[in-house]
Amino acid sequence: MRPQPVTVIGAGLAGPLLAVLLARRGFEVTVYERRGDPRVSTAEAGRSINLALAARGIRALEHAGVMDRVRPLMIAMRGRMVHETERSAKLQPYGQRPDEVIYSVARAALNRLLIEEAARYPTVTLHFYQAGAELDARGTLRLRDAASGRLYDAPPVPTIAADGAGSAVRSSLSDAGLVAVREELLDHDYKELSVHAVAGRSVLESEALHIWPRHGFMLIALPNTDGSFTATLFLPREGPRSFASLTTAAAVRELFATELADFAPLVPDLLEQFEAHPQGRLGTVHTAPWHARGRTLLLGDAAHAIVPFHGQGMNAAFEDCSVLDGLLDQHEEWEPLFAAFETVRRPNTEAIAQMAIENYGEMRESVLDAKFLRQKAWALELERRYPDRFIPRYAMVMFHPEISYAEALRRGAAQQEILDVLYARAAGAERFDETLARQRILAM
Ligand code: FAD
Repeated sequence: MRPQPVTVIGAGLAGPLLAVLLARRGFEVTVYERRGDPRVSTAEAGRSINLALAARGIRALEHAGVMDRVRPLMIAMRGRMVHETERSAKLQPYGQRPDEVIYSVARAALNRLLIEEAARYPTVTLHFYQAGAELDARGTLRLRDAASGRLYDAPPVPTIAADGAGSAVRSSLSDAGLVAVREELLDHDYKELSVHAVAGRSVLESEALHIWPRHGFMLIALPNTDGSFTATLFLPREGPRSFASLTTAAAVRELFATELADFAPLVPDLLEQFEAHPQGRLGTVHTAPWHARGRTLLLGDAAHAIVPFHGQGMNAAFEDCSVLDGLLDQHEEWEPLFAAFETVRRPNTEAIAQMAIENYGEMRESVLDAKFLRQKAWALELERRYPDRFIPRYAMVMFHPEISYAEALRRGAAQQEILDVLYARAAGAERFDETLARQRILAM
């Protein structure tokens, strides 16, 4: 496609990366962001503080030429450190090769860096405190200036909305009957808690993602570069063990004392933090179509927000950006390009949405289950023996960006069937039947 003016709504994670990719092609990009400029103001409280970055996100950042600057922000997490109630913590490695790790990255630092990278291009203009507000009857997007409340029209050029899970552009398109939206709210909410470093040192093993799986709920913690950790409590909204039941300091104290006794002492100001930090909602957004009138495209969370349990929302949003960039080589018009983007991406984002929900069960429950652990060990062994035929699903999603999410879901299901057959045949034995495994894998 020949270079031309484009509007991007949202300068979160995907918006500025997309601006970089478009600017590299000579496009003139105008970005409107509702919040302030993170290069001059501090991050808004209540948004997740750090994120797991994996191979798909890294590949997209490399494609945009920004990885050299991202690398210093990354802390390797080699596996899940599982904290059981009455046992010492145990590391379950994510993969089996040294490079099979995921990385904790601070959202605010990554956001700032991507905005700085976008701003380096003379054809990129960034406007802050400007919110995409509504579509008028002609399909033109209106923007609102935060300070004055003044409404004005966005330029009449193709608009890509990367305005996040609560996308105002998506709502406008939906109100105008141009897209259908289904939002599936999870019945579990989350709250973040900071685990401070003591005398500059981490109080938890720093190269791991820590999990306190408690069946009906869980707590996780990811490392930050200053030695602190950001913990997130995921808990049902209603019910006996729920956010609704934690209305008094005594109830909060009781939950942490009985269920998370080894975690509680790491946060001396637990009650103050619990009181002060917001309770966030989680959900999956299904939108169809993702584009309207050849003029507007939804991308990233705006099109397909997912629950965070596979650590893939940002990775998928970055992958969206590089897929869109690749399609610019194949199309001269926006409408077919937007349609091709949706055709390529939808099966994949639907697949990761499903796997993200399934991973919640895995993180809060299965990691304690003997069958799960045995099958996981066997899966790693089968991968060693048949590396081009059997790759554990988690590894396909996190370490193999050349395998699409949809393909990972499909192959994962076939592999699980084999593991179930082997488990049934083993009847409690530690080893699986090697002949049966070989037969099944070759037939798969
Ligand atoms: P966002 O990053 O949300 O950016 C949207 C931007 O648009 C924001 O800057 C916002 O201010 C702006 N905006 C909103 N409305 C308007 C408007 N009307 N006009 C103009 N601008 C607007 N993903 C991972 O890959 N790994 C993880 O470990 C991970 N952990 C997570 C943990 C939690 C608790 C949550 C909630 C999410 C997590 N995610 C994770 C998902 C990840 O945060 C999102 O998928 C990612 O931020 C999507 O990027 P985006 O650019 O589409 O949206």
